[in-house]
Amino acid sequence: MKKELFRKLPKVDKLLLSNSFKKLIEEKGYNIVYESVNEAIDTFRKAIANDSIETFTDEAIIKTAFKNIERKSQTNLRRVINGTGTIIHTNLGRSIFSTKMVENLTDILSGYNNLEYDLSTGQRGTRYSLVEKLICEITGAEAALIVNNNAAAVLLCLDQFGKNKEVIVSRGELVEIGGSFRIPDIMKFSGSALVEVGTTNRTHLYDYEDHITENTSMLLKVHTSNYKISGFTQEISREEIVSLGRKYKIITMEDLGSGVLIDLSKYGLKKEPTILDSLNSGMDLVTFSGDKLLGGPQCGIIIGKKELVDKLKRNQLLRTFRVCKMTIAILEVLLREYKNENYSEIPTLAMLSEPLDNVLERALELQKKLKEIDIHTDIVPSKCMVGGGSLPEEFIDSYALSFNNFNSVSLEKKLRENSVPIIGRIQQNQYILDMKTISSKDYPILLKAFEDINNSRSI
Ligand SMILES: *Cc1c(COP(=O)(O)O)cnc(C)c1O
Repeated sequence: MKKELFRKLPKVDKLLLSNSFKKLIEEKGYNIVYESVNEAIDTFRKAIANDSIETFTDEAIIKTAFKNIERKSQTNLRRVINGTGTIIHTNLGRSIFSTKMVENLTDILSGYNNLEYDLSTGQRGTRYSLVEKLICEITGAEAALIVNNNAAAVLLCLDQFGKNKEVIVSRGELVEIGGSFRIPDIMKFSGSALVEVGTTNRTHLYDYEDHITENTSMLLKVHTSNYKISGFTQEISREEIVSLGRKYKIITMEDLGSGVLIDLSKYGLKKEPTILDSLNSGMDLVTFSGDKLLGGPQCGIIIGKKELVDKLKRNQLLRTFRVCKMTIAILEVLLREYKNENYSEIPTLAMLSEPLDNVLERALELQKKLKEIDIHTDIVPSKCMVGGGSLPEEFIDSYALSFNNFNSVSLEKKLRENSVPIIGRIQQNQYILDMKTISSKDYPILLKAFEDINNSRSI
């Protein structure tokens, strides 16, 4: 019986001759189709061997091969639907871009460009100059420099100004960011000696002043973006650090982490220190991320005194941290939106500021469409987060669809394995999709995924 089934298994070459595969070979290439058919036959061979099937048809094998082809044709980095409600989700690619940003990228990438070519002189130019002026206009800084990410920005500054010298940081600000960026480690790596002052909850100005020696090169303030120390606390204001730095002629620098340009309190959120707050306090150097609350591509931005930024521009390490043309193409469009105060054109800010009623409207719309294909949901209030290590204690009101008629664990898995993966949350044993981070453009994908689930249920 088993032997007969094994014998009935078709040969790869024979299956490949069928018309449907011929077309697929033209579309996807021979190798993917061959591997997929081979694997499909193998799947059935194993099923026969372990007695999990008693019969099969060639059509069933072909269907499995089609599924394999679909899976193998997908890239590893894929678009996903974010139903978690976390706006700057580091695991899901942080900030998303507007159509304008993406169109500019397509235009720049499909041809040559003036990345390092000065169009006014016909001579060699520098990539950094393409956005420096815009950053300075928006922030009021004397000079600016961009590198691959904020971690690189901090390391570059420490390498330039702190190496073999002492850098003073408050014990309350020895931050670890997810993905193992730790201030004490990065300082050790840069060759600068960390001088910790104060205590975890309280640091006074005299703590800084008492530790200043002839070897002190920098007073570093780190924004505790992803945690909060509350209770009996004391931290020194930027202005006090700046005046101390000036008194002793020591560089002052702030690592802001998530750099925000606008006052978030106008969106009903807690005020985060803005880039302007930091710069206006007189800090010599300020560093921040491009893809957190700024809403742009992954990069680190350093702004501050021209004399210092000029030194950074000549640092050899800069070559290893340099940004690519894709980053600059997207960043420039973003910066122009800031310059024109077109905040609604910046998806991260648009999501942050979207009225709750709009979110509810989308929840109702999607609920209705799902009902039409017999998927019943409840709309539940939800709290979502800004993410990206910013505003750790701030929750934004939102609405979510709750799928009560499903086993939450298996629904989570099925949607995660969808061809466009759908990532939701399990809350009190219910699977939910938060509508804050789902746009109406996502509906067709969501509906198709649930139709597939319906179909596989009825089989
Ligand atoms: C996020 C963050 C960093 C790291 O920034 P990346 O752009 O992710 O490299 C450094 N410092 C602080 C305070 C941060 O919040």
